[in-house]
Amino acid sequence: MISQYSGISPKGDLILLERLGEKLKGKSFLHINSTRAGGGVAEILQRMIPILVELGIDARWEVIEGDERFFDLTKKIHNAVQGNSEKITEDMWRHHYEINKKNAERINLDADAVLIHDPQPSPLIEFRKTGRWIWRCHIDVSHPVKEVCDYLLRYCQRYEAAVFSVAKFARAMGVDEFIIPPSIDPVSEKNRAMSPDEINKTLDRFQIPADRPMLLQVSRFDRFKDPIGVIKAHRMVKKYNDCILVLAGSPATDDPEGEAVLKEVREFAADDPDIHILLLPPFSDRDINALQRAATIVIQKSLKEGFGLTVSEAMWKGKPVIGGAAGGIPLQIIHGVTGFLVHSVEGLAFRIRQFLNNPEMVQRMGENGREHVRNNFLITRQIRDYLSVWYYLENKGALIEL
Ligand code: UDP
Repeated sequence: MISQYSGISPKGDLILLERLGEKLKGKSFLHINSTRAGGGVAEILQRMIPILVELGIDARWEVIEGDERFFDLTKKIHNAVQGNSEKITEDMWRHHYEINKKNAERINLDADAVLIHDPQPSPLIEFRKTGRWIWRCHIDVSHPVKEVCDYLLRYCQRYEAAVFSVAKFARAMGVDEFIIPPSIDPVSEKNRAMSPDEINKTLDRFQIPADRPMLLQVSRFDRFKDPIGVIKAHRMVKKYNDCILVLAGSPATDDPEGEAVLKEVREFAADDPDIHILLLPPFSDRDINALQRAATIVIQKSLKEGFGLTVSEAMWKGKPVIGGAAGGIPLQIIHGVTGFLVHSVEGLAFRIRQFLNNPEMVQRMGENGREHVRNNFLITRQIRDYLSVWYYLENKGALIEL
C-alpha cells in the first residue's frame, strides 16, 4: 500500500514513514471522533486507518454516539469556539460529559496512543486508562467565546499533547503542542485520476452542461462556508461572463444545521437555471472527484474554516482556487501563485472574472497548486507527523533514535 505512493509523495516522507512504522509496529493507535461520514475529519480517518494498519500498527477508529441534544449542543460549542456568541449552560456541559461517559463504557479505550478529535469527545480524557492521550483540534480556536473555551480547556489541558492544524489556531495550553496540517489522499476515489468519459457521466447524471465555464464549491451546507456569498458573486459575474455555478454538499451526522442552511440556499438561488444545487449522499467521492475535475474554477469562500480540505483536493486536480482568507485556506492558497484569497463577495466576483478572462493564468496557477499540495498536503506527510509526535511522547526524556 505504501508503495502506491512512490512517485507521488515526496521520497523523504516515505522514508521517514517506513522508519517510524518499524519503531511503532505492533502498538495500538485509537482514533475517536464524532461522525463516520461528512466533513474533513471523517474523510481523513477513513483513508488513514488502512495505511496505519499496513505499516503494522494496530489502528482503530471509533465514533462517539449521542442523542439529538448532544449534537445540538456540540454544534453550539463548535460555533462558540470559532467565535460565534453562544451560551452553553451548566446543564448542557453536564449532558456533554454524561454522553461521553456512556461512550467510555461502550468503547474500548485501551490503546498505546489515543487521538481524540475535536471538542465533542474531549471529555473522554476523564476515562483514560493507559497510553498516550493526544487532543487533536481541527477547528479555529484563536478567537473563541472565552467562557466556552475555558470550560473546554479543563478537559484539553489534561491531555499529554495537543495538535492543531494551523499555527494561528493554537493557544498556550500548558501541554506540548504540535502543528500538523491535514492532508488529502492522492490515490483515494476522491482524488485519483479520471478519464474524461467518467467525468462526463457524472455531469450527465446531474444534468450539468459540459460546454460552459463552471464554478464549483463543495461544502457542507454551513453558514461559515458562505454559500449565499458564492451565489451573490456568481450573479455579479454573470452580467459579464457566461458561467454556471455548482454548489455540492452533503449532510454530516454531527451537523444538525445543514438542512436549514440548504433551505436558505435554495430559496436564495430562486430557481436560477444557471445554479445547480446538489445534495449528495455521503461517500459520493467519485462524483466529487468528477465535479472538481470538470470545474473551471473552484471556490471555497469560507468565512471561518478549520483547514478546508476541499482546497487541496481541487489544487491536486490542477484547478486554481479562490478562497476566503480563513483558517487553513491561506496555507494552501499562495495568493497570486496557486489561486487568490478574497475577503468579500466583490473580491470573489473580481477574481472569478480575472480567471475566466485569462485561461493561461488558470493553467499556470493550477499547475503551481498541484506541486504545492504534493510537497505539503498529502496523507503520507500527515501520518509521518502523527507517528513522530507519538514516538516523541513514547520516548520523552530519552535520546530519540530513528
Ligand atoms: N465533502 C463530501 N461531500 C460533500 C461535501 C464535502 O464528501 O457533499 C468532503 C470534501 O470533499 C472534503 C470534506 O468533505 O473532503 C470537507 O472538508 P473541509 O475541511 O473542506 O470542511 P469541513 O466539512 O471539515 O468543515
